[in-house]
Amino acid sequence: MSLIEDNLHNVRATLPEGVRLLAVSKFHPAEMIREAYDAGQRLFGENRPQELKEKYALLPKDIEWHMIGHLQTNKIKYIAPFVTMIESLDSERLAAAIDKEAAKCGRVIDCLLEIHVAQEQTKSGWDYAELEEFVRGGGFAAYPNIRIRGVMGMATFTDDETVVRGDFMRLAECKRALAPYFGEAFDTLSMGMSEDYPIAVECGATEVRIGSTIFGPRVY
Ligand SMILES: *Cc1c(COP(=O)(O)O)cnc(C)c1O
Repeated sequence: MSLIEDNLHNVRATLPEGVRLLAVSKFHPAEMIREAYDAGQRLFGENRPQELKEKYALLPKDIEWHMIGHLQTNKIKYIAPFVTMIESLDSERLAAAIDKEAAKCGRVIDCLLEIHVAQEQTKSGWDYAELEEFVRGGGFAAYPNIRIRGVMGMATFTDDETVVRGDFMRLAECKRALAPYFGEAFDTLSMGMSEDYPIAVECGATEVRIGSTIFGPRVY
């Protein structure tokens, strides 16, 4: 068994049924993604549009690609034709831009609302109060080429489990509170990374995003 295959098995063994595993392959070469693919993994996450586009071209077409990084509006065009989901929808401006690019491709693109719950100001995402106001006002009705599938977020970077759990509980609460505004497709709660995903799962994550535990440390 290859190391990546081994790591994948180990991670999968810790996930309850119904929790999807997004293998975060950013900064790792296509050959390593291929190894994970050969071990049965089909769901991958990347955070840079050009890198994602290059890997899409090199790899099997039944891979589901999720964009998880901050997205600049002028780069949506690289991924709009094929991306399965954009998890980092964090502003109205970005919603409008994704909608426009999706329309050009004749697609409806699934998106998650990235919500800021961590203590660091550097992390991106909607301020929940602003998001709620926008949603309540029917703001997304103007964008028929995006479909809102749920919520994504990151916990504070700390060893203090109480803080991390609090962040995940808040994300779960945001998802519950927003659900009535969306249809049945609003089913995804994406939270938890290598260091904190067991807590995220306890708090109700339906998808975890795991990079280094599968692929090893990233070289930037
Ligand atoms: C890089 C990244 C991950 C994966 O992080 P690991 O610590 O390597 O598991 C998950 N989510 C987002 C948004 C990321 O940028």
